[in-house]
Amino acid sequence: MTGVADEIAATIGEFVALRRDLHRHPELAFKEKRTSALVADCLTSWGYEVVTGVGGTGVVGTLRRGPGNKALGIRADMDALPIHEATGLPYASGAAGVMHACGHDGHTAILLAAARHIARFGAFRGTLNLIFQPAEEIGAGARAMIADGLFERFPCDAVYGLHNWPGVPAGQFGFVVGPAMASVDQALIHVAGRGGHGAAPHEAVDPIVASASLILALQTVVSRNVDPLEMAVVTVGSIHGGTASNIIPEGVDLKVTIRSFNPRIREQMRIGIPQLARAQAGSFGARAEVDYRLGFPAAVNPREQTLFARDVAAAAFGADAIDPAFRPRTASEDFAYMLEAKPGSYLFVGNGNSAQLHNANYDFNDEILAPAAAFWAELTRSYLS
Ligand SMILES: [Zn+2]
Ligand SMILES: [Zn+2]
Repeated sequence: MTGVADEIAATIGEFVALRRDLHRHPELAFKEKRTSALVADCLTSWGYEVVTGVGGTGVVGTLRRGPGNKALGIRADMDALPIHEATGLPYASGAAGVMHACGHDGHTAILLAAARHIARFGAFRGTLNLIFQPAEEIGAGARAMIADGLFERFPCDAVYGLHNWPGVPAGQFGFVVGPAMASVDQALIHVAGRGGHGAAPHEAVDPIVASASLILALQTVVSRNVDPLEMAVVTVGSIHGGTASNIIPEGVDLKVTIRSFNPRIREQMRIGIPQLARAQAGSFGARAEVDYRLGFPAAVNPREQTLFARDVAAAAFGADAIDPAFRPRTASEDFAYMLEAKPGSYLFVGNGNSAQLHNANYDFNDEILAPAAAFWAELTRSYLS
């Protein structure tokens, strides 16, 4: 433990209360009005220069100290999910069907706890930009802030962000060099046949059988087309078609999610999956219409900035605080866009044995507020020294 960690831990109760208040009042993507107002009020009261309305409901707080031209960006996401909370906690969501099930309430509180400590005690030279981002869950907030001139209006030499991770011991840090989280794309496939009587399949074109074959064939994209030393995920998460046992429907709709770490593999799937869908449907006399929607790219952590952050954590908390075997995750994160614009790193903090992210029983672990906030304060001191 360091002086920074001790000071933050001594006053963390206020930020636990703040985190639970955010949890009680979750807001969906681009609707983070109360949350961003609260963030702006806190930052202003601690002496930050605050700009609101960046990329919608985004907020940036800037603190300049001493001589020095270096600038550091640290980002937290603020939005909740369309999930009905099932935790039964005293501070559970007060908004029906909306829930902080990804811990963005925690990420916001962590960065605020760091912000106050840095404003009071932080010794650094240069510019610190604290970036509170909306709409991560729909993959739109980072792009919206960047399109609104984030890095022109608030220049940063590097930008960092973190995510809590269930199943990893509470407060343990994870660093990944290279791709840390996967790209995410979606294929919406309509298999068009020709409807008819279930008793006379020869007079119809059955899109259900064509879809069944297509679903199995899609699994061969990863096993037979992708380089075995690379990774990809193809999941058919939704299939809808038909109304009754004795009716062959006109069509079937499939929704497919596609993940990968390597842009070359991503492109291979973008071309290969529609081709496969058309050929498979065609072999049954049916037709596949494919709406392939590119989501966001993989979050790729450059080596230099990642090892810098890892060294900061090791110096502040000891080697035991770092999970040496933390692996990349196949979930996705729109911080990827910030890493395309600037060097930096996306890192992880264990959330202990909580329910999984995006689960109605998930809750952010308040025990990790203090160590994570102390990490941001240490990173600021080291980067802007
Ligand atoms: Zn999420
Ligand atoms: Zn998240």
